[in-house]
Amino acid sequence: MSNVKQIDQQYVAGTYARFPVEITSGKGSLVYDETGKEYIDMGSGIGVTAFGIADDAWLTAVTEQLNKVQHMSNLYYTEPCALLAQELCSRTGMKKVFFANSGAEANECAIKVARKYAADKKGPEYSTIVTLKNSFHGRTLTTLSATGQEHYHELFQPLTPGFVHGDAGDLEGIKQLALSSKAAGILIECVQGEGGVIAMEPDFVKGLAAFCQEQDILFMVDEVQTGNGRTGQLYAYMNYGVQPDVVSTAKGLGGGLPLGAALLGEKVQNVLGFGDHGSTFGGNPVCCAGALNILQRIDDALLAEVQMKGEYIRQQLTGAKGIKGISGMGLMVGIQTEKPAGQMVKALVEKGVLCLTAKDKLRLLPALNIPMDVLAKAIDAIKEVCAE
Ligand SMILES: *Cc1c(COP(=O)(O)O)cnc(C)c1O
Repeated sequence: MSNVKQIDQQYVAGTYARFPVEITSGKGSLVYDETGKEYIDMGSGIGVTAFGIADDAWLTAVTEQLNKVQHMSNLYYTEPCALLAQELCSRTGMKKVFFANSGAEANECAIKVARKYAADKKGPEYSTIVTLKNSFHGRTLTTLSATGQEHYHELFQPLTPGFVHGDAGDLEGIKQLALSSKAAGILIECVQGEGGVIAMEPDFVKGLAAFCQEQDILFMVDEVQTGNGRTGQLYAYMNYGVQPDVVSTAKGLGGGLPLGAALLGEKVQNVLGFGDHGSTFGGNPVCCAGALNILQRIDDALLAEVQMKGEYIRQQLTGAKGIKGISGMGLMVGIQTEKPAGQMVKALVEKGVLCLTAKDKLRLLPALNIPMDVLAKAIDAIKEVCAE
């Protein structure tokens, strides 16, 4: 075993079951381990490296800012933070942005906004957030409470109160739950990621949005995984023709640097005032400069490419030997395999293809700009492994 693996196992908290691979370099959708073996990266750091590893344009944007100012307190203005917020708002119709450093923190902001909005408007008893069973919203205690999966809760009682979980797809049930619990907001993933790459039905999402509007309950969408071009639209809610009150995002936004954002719509744009919320690193100029570059390149042409590549994957894998079904949207793909997904992922590492799992499925989140020939090679390897 290499030195790094040994040191890591001795000194890094054992929260991750790592593959016996040390990644030492990469470019685009190809990465290399310590022996020089090449892998096709079909996970992109769990949907983070939107344009792949060490992407030239992103790297230029980041290093130019690094050479100016690497960090400044939020007591002062910095250009990348302002321009990124402007770009996010002009592309979504949202009005203001709070910057954080991760998906969980973006959701924390969304939850705080919902509680304050409802308390100001209806009274402090309107504090509940409704989320869906099988959802995933993060690892902080509050976002764990939001996460509708019991097994994440067990070890960390007591959780933050004020969260209830309804069945995805059960519009009437969720409405009842929201009314009976005096909900401040409803938070959903349009495509559940960790839960198994499951897209919500259009009628369900539209129904929730309309109900929230009618009841003045905030309609909040967790776009941490689905956002920033992943599903073939800039944000997944755009596939459904709805306008959320709050959108949280992170993962792909920073292109590989830690950055989260809560986008605030018309109703809630002024809910947070001076001192109501904050983050030391939030809006870091280097992260924001990289994110601005990423966002500007997620244009109609790139989104069409994402859709086309997603179609290609579906068409190639549907009906293939050892594959029972395909789920997801755009370049967020779930593959139901006949053999256990964990076993498939291990076999694919051997073959030089890095994939993810989500529940009992194989999950693909390749870089948005993965070249067609590289993608085709990875898909062939997946077909081979599943057919064996
Ligand atoms: C990954 C993820 C999170 C948590 O993001 P972190 O950056 O790990 O805090 C929250 N929601 C969804 C939908 C995610 O996929």
